[in-house]
Amino acid sequence: MFSKELKSALRSAKNIVCLTGAGFSAESGIPTFRGEKGLWKNYSPEELATPQAFLQNPELVWEWYTFRKKLILGAEPNAGHFALTELENSVEKFHLITQNVDNLHQRAGTQNVTELHGNIFKCRCFRCGKDFEEGLPLQEEIPSCTFCGDLIRPGVVWFGESLPFNAFSDSAIFARSADFFILAGTSAVVYPAAELPIYALNEGAFVLEINPERTRLSTLVSESILEKSGTVLPELIKILK
Ligand code: NAD
Ligand code: ZN
Repeated sequence: MFSKELKSALRSAKNIVCLTGAGFSAESGIPTFRGEKGLWKNYSPEELATPQAFLQNPELVWEWYTFRKKLILGAEPNAGHFALTELENSVEKFHLITQNVDNLHQRAGTQNVTELHGNIFKCRCFRCGKDFEEGLPLQEEIPSCTFCGDLIRPGVVWFGESLPFNAFSDSAIFARSADFFILAGTSAVVYPAAELPIYALNEGAFVLEINPERTRLSTLVSESILEKSGTVLPELIKILK
């Protein structure tokens, strides 16, 4: 499955950085946005995951997030998530950058995680930005802010919003310092996350892409494996054994 160059680059790697996207959790049964299209009450994520949608119909948006949170709570991390935790424990330096909001990397035990798009189990006030943790059981009604009284919103990045403070600049530093970079389960079209593998390539890192479908980065990376991340990553870590 792997080239000689890949095996040698991985064995000598001292600093591995990984970028994951929604496809990484597909094998846990969590649909990607594209896979989800029209599945929930005939709305598409583009109609729900925006500040405008929340302002117009906060109950509807909250209900969709409650639906997604329940789906995620009923799911388990997959073989890809566990393989990355093992990889983290096998190398000197490891950092994971994820576009996923589902918390599955953390549930699989990965420690060094930067969440580019927030976390679906966190929330904050729409108006004053005060952070809240939502406990279990999930709240079906939208809670209001104990500080200013406005509505609480999911702690994720919506279409048209900027990334959390420092999340991207920190990720850019990690990407540039990597000697081995893995890009898995992401279509590499959502900027600025799609820039990160390019930063790593420009600094001379070996860049491995894992995705059953070709992306616009497939011809640029050092190696592209057209398979599922839950299949490839458990094999990849065997190289280090
Ligand atoms: P995306 O742009 O990251 O695309 C998903 C990619 O995963 C596709 O290229 C697809 O070919 C690939 N893929 C599918 N199954 C795979 C597998 N088993 N192994 C490896 N690759 C696989 O994702 P999107 O759906 O367009 O979502 C965009 C953004 O929406 C995400 O970055 C995230 O912020 C949010 N989102 C998060 C989740 C989650 O947390 N699980 C789910 C849906 C959407
Ligand atoms: Zn508030």
